[in-house]
Amino acid sequence: YRSHVMVCGGTGCTSSDSDKVAERFTEEIKKAGLDKEVLVVRTGCFGLCELGPVVVVYPEGVFYSRVKPDYVPEIVEEHLLKGRPVKKYLYGESVTEKAIKPLEETPFFRKQKRIALRNCGIINPEDIREAIAFDGYRALAKVLTQMTPKEVIEEVKKSGLRGRGGGGFPTGVKWEFAYNQKETPKYVVCNADEGDPGAFMDRSILEGDPHSVLEAMAIAGYAIGANHGYIYVRAEYPLAVKRLKIAIEQAREYGLLGKNIFGTGFDFDIEIRLGAGAFVCGEETALLNSVMGRRGEPRPRPPFPAVKGVWDKPTIINNVETFANIPPIILNGAEWFSSIGTEKSKGTKVFALTGKVNNTGLIEVPMGTTLREIIYEIGGGIPNGKKFKAAQTGGPSGGCIPTEHLDTPIDYDSLINVGSMMGSGGLVVMDEDTCMVNVAKFFLEFTVDESCGKCAPCRIGTRRMLEILEKITSGKGEEGDIEKLEELAKTIKATALCGLGQTAPNPVLSTIRYFRDEYEAHIKEKR
Ligand code: SF4
Repeated sequence: YRSHVMVCGGTGCTSSDSDKVAERFTEEIKKAGLDKEVLVVRTGCFGLCELGPVVVVYPEGVFYSRVKPDYVPEIVEEHLLKGRPVKKYLYGESVTEKAIKPLEETPFFRKQKRIALRNCGIINPEDIREAIAFDGYRALAKVLTQMTPKEVIEEVKKSGLRGRGGGGFPTGVKWEFAYNQKETPKYVVCNADEGDPGAFMDRSILEGDPHSVLEAMAIAGYAIGANHGYIYVRAEYPLAVKRLKIAIEQAREYGLLGKNIFGTGFDFDIEIRLGAGAFVCGEETALLNSVMGRRGEPRPRPPFPAVKGVWDKPTIINNVETFANIPPIILNGAEWFSSIGTEKSKGTKVFALTGKVNNTGLIEVPMGTTLREIIYEIGGGIPNGKKFKAAQTGGPSGGCIPTEHLDTPIDYDSLINVGSMMGSGGLVVMDEDTCMVNVAKFFLEFTVDESCGKCAPCRIGTRRMLEILEKITSGKGEEGDIEKLEELAKTIKATALCGLGQTAPNPVLSTIRYFRDEYEAHIKEKR
């Protein structure tokens, strides 16, 4: 084919009718007699969700935004037949009088580095041949034929990869714990129960490149000595589930999952487990219970899953983005990966950039990129000339970062130093009109709703905190309320059973830390 018309088939663009855009391209290309020369490909998410449906035409790499089916005949006639991109439908700076800039050179993409998202927007995720053409399963072949399990673990350890689901625990160390267990069988679990409000990193990887996760799980299985994997994915992600099912079937057909992979005698297969949307099931011990069909409640650790996980056997649990980083680490080496990022946070991080920012969407940046670069360069700044007020990272477990920390390099440790956390990658931008007390209340309402109720500090404590916040925002706040919030927060953080409760007070604490005057103003304004 001389040209490829890539139509985004992620959930965002699909919800704004990218299916119809793709169908129209197929029809018009046929009508123009170009169907032997131009191929229409449904891909995963390109990232610029704000401008969907997105279409990219290669080899030029030009980027059409907000495409409607009615635009298609003109694009086919002008661009595909006459070689003249239709400027009025092109994305922002990609249109210049001198030249049409390729996608990678637009402000949105220039500062990004795509490792976990390397194939999203590039391949058709429903065709394993495209994944294979882009190096899919080559890392699995390498570990099975050239590396011992111990060498695989050493490589992952040396890369410095840390868990992308929020905790930031070193992935290779986790694998080593499970490797050292004598008990068998062992299991590999993929946590795809993404639940933070505004977060869609894992969903986009599963929709855009499911084979990267399957391949990484098989590599993990080989490393720790497991032959079975579970992907725990929320049922609210129907497109991701559909593509995972297709990917698993195709991988089995191609002998890349199942018995005797690559004729090496190594067996590995994967089952999907659907979650019902309980936020707490993203917590690893609750997730394990749910995988086994039990009530999704956390349990105390130790024992850690690496010792007693699924069916009480040694188990590793990694999140989708963590797994998506594994094949490139194996293929390019630990040194390549650890040369990207900061001293203690290696590689890149995917963020779902949302809220009061011009370019909402999915981005992947090297660790150490500053918030200012993300918001003003990649994100295109704050809409309507408003001023930036804060960015919330880490979802309901994280905190709000104010203007004075805009130059904070984003990595695990600096975010904790400024009172927030990396979390799984939600990044919500707020402008000068946002009430920070309401923001804190929003996140606390979420955790109160999602608390499983097993332990009192979380079940009762977060509710009491919410009541105080409701009092303050409805003009009934009293002196001493802020101190009560702080005291409750301290107790909940110290005594709740699982991560959900231990981190639930963070949005309140960080907004009190930086925006105490707004709490005080609400209390003073009481009528
Ligand atoms: Fe359940 Fe909250 Fe206790 Fe976690 S902290 S076990 S979510 S009640």
